[in-house]
Amino acid sequence: MNVLNTYPEIDFKTSSVIQTAQLEKLKQLLYYVSENSTYYKNLFAENSIHVHSIHSLEDFQKLPLTTKADLAQYNEDFLCIPLSDVADFTTTSGTTGRPIASYQSRADLDRLAYNEALSMLCTGAGSEDVFQLMTTIDKRFMAGLAYYLGIQKIGAGIVRNGPGGIPLQWDSILRFKPTVLIAIPSFIPDLIDYAEQNGIDYKNSSVQKIICIGQPLRNEQLELNELGKAICSRWNVELYSTYASTEMATAFTECQAGKGGHMPSELIFLEVLDEKGNHVKNGEPGEVVITTLGVEAMPLVRYKTGDVCHYFSEPCSCGRTTPRLGPVIGRKNQMLKVKGTTIFPSAIYDAVEKVIPEPDYILEISLGDYSNDHITILIDNKHIAKAENLSVRLKSSLRMMPELKFTDKQTLRKLKFPEDVRKPLKFVDKR
Ligand SMILES: [Zn+2]
Repeated sequence: MNVLNTYPEIDFKTSSVIQTAQLEKLKQLLYYVSENSTYYKNLFAENSIHVHSIHSLEDFQKLPLTTKADLAQYNEDFLCIPLSDVADFTTTSGTTGRPIASYQSRADLDRLAYNEALSMLCTGAGSEDVFQLMTTIDKRFMAGLAYYLGIQKIGAGIVRNGPGGIPLQWDSILRFKPTVLIAIPSFIPDLIDYAEQNGIDYKNSSVQKIICIGQPLRNEQLELNELGKAICSRWNVELYSTYASTEMATAFTECQAGKGGHMPSELIFLEVLDEKGNHVKNGEPGEVVITTLGVEAMPLVRYKTGDVCHYFSEPCSCGRTTPRLGPVIGRKNQMLKVKGTTIFPSAIYDAVEKVIPEPDYILEISLGDYSNDHITILIDNKHIAKAENLSVRLKSSLRMMPELKFTDKQTLRKLKFPEDVRKPLKFVDKR
C-alpha cells in the first residue's frame, strides 16, 4: 500500500476549480447509477430524467432527493454490484430506526482508507503518530474499520483497544505511547477520573490529540461545548470533531483551526438545504444532503441525512476552501416546537450540562397541548439538590421551561441503553 502523507491540493484551490471537478464526478456517477442501480434506474424512469441532459450543478440540484425511508424500504435495490463482489457488510448505527444494510466493494474499502487518511492528515497527524482506537472495529460497524484502514494508509501505527475497559486503555497508553486517541468524547472524563484515582500521571502522558466520534464537542458558535470544556480543563489535549455516517462513507473532519469539519471534495458533494429545499447561506443551519463520489457498491444521489448542521462557506485559516459543517445540532425529526418557536435538542443539552454531567440525564419528548412538544428532562436523583440551579440555567438560556423529573439510576440506564443500540441515547421521542 502506498503511504499517503500530504493532503490533496484540490481542496486548497478556488471553489470554482473544486466545483468543476465535482461536476465531472457527479456526471460520471449519474451514468453509473442509471446503469447499475435498480433504485435510481426506476427513479429516473418514473421522473423522465435523462442523465445526458444534466450539464450543470443547477441541473443536478433539480434531481429528486433520496430519503432514509427510501434507503430502508428499497435497501438492496441501491446495490450496484453482484453480492458476490461485496467485500464488507455493514449496517448503519440505527439511531433513528432499524439499521440499514450498507455494502462495500474492495474498491470502496480503498476509498474508505483514503477518506480516513485525509481525515487524519486534516488534524495534522501523520506517519510518526501512534493511534489508539477506542471504538469498536466489529459489530457491523464501518467507522472502526475505516479508522484502521486510514491509519495504515498514512503509514502510522495503531493499538486496537476497542471501547470500554479503562484499565486496559491506560495499560496501552503507558506501554505503547499513543499520540492520538480515537474515542467517543463522553468516555474521556471517565478515563481521566480513573487516572486520578489510580495515580497515573496522565498530564504527562504521550497523548496529544483526541479525534472524537459520535458526539459533538462544539456549540453552534463553534466554541467548545460543556463536554469539550470538561475535557480540556482537565487535560491539555487537542480535540477534533468528526462528522460521518455509514451511508455517506465519508468524514467531515476539523483541521487545527477547529472551525467545523471540512468536506473532502474528491469524495462527497454537499448541499445544506432549508425547509423549502434551497441552499442555506454561510453561517446558517440546514439539513445535510450528500451525494457520494467514487462509491462503487452503494452510491447515493442527493441523500437527505436528516442531520441539521450549520454551513460555513468562507475559506478556512488552514488554507482549505472547502465548505465546513458545524456540529449536528439535531436530527430533522428531532426538531422541537414550543410556543411557536423551534428548538433543537443540542441547545437543551448545552444548558443542562452546565449543571448535570452528560451520562446522568435524558430528554423525553411527548406531544403536549396545542401541538406543542412537551419536553421532560429525566435526571439521576443523586443530583436532586441541583434542581433549583438547573431551573435558573434553563430559564435563562432557553426562554422556556422543560419539566424536570428525578428518577433512579436503573430506570435511566434502561432508557439510555435499549437493545440493539450502539451508543447511549440522550433523546427519547414519544411523539
Ligand atoms: Zn481548516
